[in-house]
Amino acid sequence: MQLFDQQQIQIYNTLSGEKEQFNPINKGHIGMYVCGPTVYSNVHLGNVRTFMSFDMIFRYFKHLGYKVRYVRNITDAGHLENDADVGEDRIAKKARLEEIEPMEVVQRYTVDFHNILNKFNFLPPSIEPTATGHIIEQIEIIKEIINNGLAYVVNGSVYFDVIKYNETKPYGILSKRNVEDLIHNTRALDGQSDKKNPQDFALWKKAEPQHIMRWPSPWSDGFPGWHLECTAMSTKYLGEQFDIHGGGMDLKFPHHECEIAQAEATNNIAPVNYWMHANMLIMNGKKMAKSTGNFILPNEIFSGDNPHITKAYSPSVARFFMLQAHYRSILDFTNDGLLASEKGFFRLMDAINSLDSLKTEQQSSFDVSVWKQKCYDAMNDDFNTPIVIANLFEAVKHINQIKDGSATITEGDLNILKDSMHAFVFDILGLENANESNASSDKLSGAVEILIQMRQEARANKDFALSDKIRDELAEAGIQLNDSRDGTTFTTN
Ligand code: AMP
Ligand code: ZN
Repeated sequence: MQLFDQQQIQIYNTLSGEKEQFNPINKGHIGMYVCGPTVYSNVHLGNVRTFMSFDMIFRYFKHLGYKVRYVRNITDAGHLENDADVGEDRIAKKARLEEIEPMEVVQRYTVDFHNILNKFNFLPPSIEPTATGHIIEQIEIIKEIINNGLAYVVNGSVYFDVIKYNETKPYGILSKRNVEDLIHNTRALDGQSDKKNPQDFALWKKAEPQHIMRWPSPWSDGFPGWHLECTAMSTKYLGEQFDIHGGGMDLKFPHHECEIAQAEATNNIAPVNYWMHANMLIMNGKKMAKSTGNFILPNEIFSGDNPHITKAYSPSVARFFMLQAHYRSILDFTNDGLLASEKGFFRLMDAINSLDSLKTEQQSSFDVSVWKQKCYDAMNDDFNTPIVIANLFEAVKHINQIKDGSATITEGDLNILKDSMHAFVFDILGLENANESNASSDKLSGAVEILIQMRQEARANKDFALSDKIRDELAEAGIQLNDSRDGTTFTTN
């Protein structure tokens, strides 16, 4: 029997507006798609929060023994500056400003994205497809939607006919909007004159002569609409109907609404059983966002180099800070919040690191099995990590009491406690043990000091080839040696 047979998860489904029992389409298997980043700039901490929520969810499913296919795409084309199909392509614009190729922009920020997520100890998704790698699939979907009479071609561009679609299926089902209200509230923007109605959205856009990111299609040399890529990639890797689709709250409309309409218009079936939306990280009372300049970069958290914080924080402390809020709650980024999380994080780590030295007795003064199920209950209740963490601190209190002799635990219960603390703290919440990372950085320092010593000896022997080789190869490994009158120190990047 797998753990998932014993733990019944409830998921808040945006589609129904309620918590629902989670039952995957195929027993023991889960298909999950999460909209990935548009790789035109460094990810900010707000983006990280959304991806972290789904990393935690992925980790919990895996812990329960599910076989999960987790698809998180890379948006490397088609995302325009304005969601209403106008403005420049975000990546093409960056390429123009920096005088580099769009694919250089994509490469640079994809690498940055991976580096940052690695620092936060994310698990890689099972598949990470790119939009530009799936142009053919997108063109095929457009052909089907045109064949089904739900899209039209104007001047080389193809638009989804929202009004026609809405005659048979409700457009707005996810974001609880209705087309009549949308018609009243949408203003026609310049450059949208090709559309029959301003609510319609682009499936394919003809590229202007200066537009560098372009592909041939039956309608024009152009590029696919942003919403279409997620329909193409989720269907390709997870099927016409799959279990979970996630993303940030701000993607509900129009992006996810359009995904539903496109999939329905192609396959005549609701594509997703559970729509999950993570709430926003805010700072100074406003959503953290690149476009407004109201953001903080993860590397600034790690270095402390930002006016919003008074010191550097480790990735695990920042991760702990974010998981102390429920993924559907707004989280306010503050230095005080991080300081409090850091204190809590070290208290938790101290307790975990003392587990091996606890003495056991004939009786336990607290019921470890009940406590363990409370941790599962919290996760099963729509991944309620703040309650899980409150339960972990309840265990910390007991561990400290056992240490000072005011509480007792049996050997059997201690084993359950150790396994569960490790499972929840490291496997599910994805935190890293502070002492272990300190220990590994101590080991690194020791090794580099030996190399610095060898380099000094090489220089003393006038073996400059060897001394340069040591310096250059360390630099390649990301370790810079800094020579001064007082000796040589090193920094890592
Ligand atoms: P983007 O690269 O702009 O497509 O955004 C990538 C992901 O980050 C999306 O799921 C967004 O919903 C999410 N996101 C953007 N801003 C924030 C924020 N301030 N807090 C949480 N998630 C965000
Ligand atoms: Zn998407």
